[in-house]
Amino acid sequence: MISKIDYIKEYAKELKLLNLQKKIDEFIEHGENEDLSYQEFLYKILNEEIIAKEERKKQTRLKNAGFPVIKTIEEFDFEFQKSISKRHINRLLEMDWIDKIYNLIFLGPPGVGKTHLAIALGYKAIDMGYKVSFISMDNLVYSLKTQDIMRKSKIKINKIHSSDLVIIDEIGYLPINREEANMFFQLISALHEQTSIIITSNKGFGDWNELLGDPALTTAILDRLTYKCELFNMTGKSYRLTHRKSFLED
Ligand code: ADP
Ligand code: MG
Repeated sequence: MISKIDYIKEYAKELKLLNLQKKIDEFIEHGENEDLSYQEFLYKILNEEIIAKEERKKQTRLKNAGFPVIKTIEEFDFEFQKSISKRHINRLLEMDWIDKIYNLIFLGPPGVGKTHLAIALGYKAIDMGYKVSFISMDNLVYSLKTQDIMRKSKIKINKIHSSDLVIIDEIGYLPINREEANMFFQLISALHEQTSIIITSNKGFGDWNELLGDPALTTAILDRLTYKCELFNMTGKSYRLTHRKSFLED
């Protein structure tokens, strides 16, 4: 004989109330033990369902973002990195720059925390409900070039186009040719004024010409990126070098 509980589980599944489906026994036991009113009982079930659903959506956004690691603002040492103000970053954590479609550019030598801050802001944006895509410049160029022949590349590029925030990490480690620069320009043009972009680069704008091959294209790209933009020139020592870990000496 099929019990009422089994029916409820089936119905919950059919209605995609996955939390209820999983925890129905617990809910009933809790309701009976705590002598909940009908109103309280229903409230608890629906409230937990909403919370669980939001959490699942957030986990999906996090997976789709493609962060290489998770970094948070709480882990960032503003005493070590003094060229950026904690007050400014806290202001950015409110995320209204994404609604207003501003870009952020972090420039500076290796190890000063550019990628850390970019990921931390992206992570917080996901927490607040935004869709984010993280991609290294190398991987972006590769994905742009192979999107017509590789499903994985196409999926990544599509995700980029449907994101609220796109983080392009490490422009400048490898120079790109004119054809690649042209594809990059097409992408930036398509995202421009629709999507916020965070760029990190170890090269100053003066070096971008050499990097992107073509001066006219570089100007056009920089024009779009810097039109509505906060620029952070980060300086200082490499956090990695200063906090170098030794396996043998520790
Ligand atoms: P960049 O992108 O500027 O080359 P990263 O952001 O990758 O540098 O930082 C290198 C490493 O040092 C990362 O593990 C990062 O978490 C850490 N790091 C850099 N700056 C800080 C900081 N101010 N506080 C805490 N960790 C930092
Ligand atoms: Mg980096």
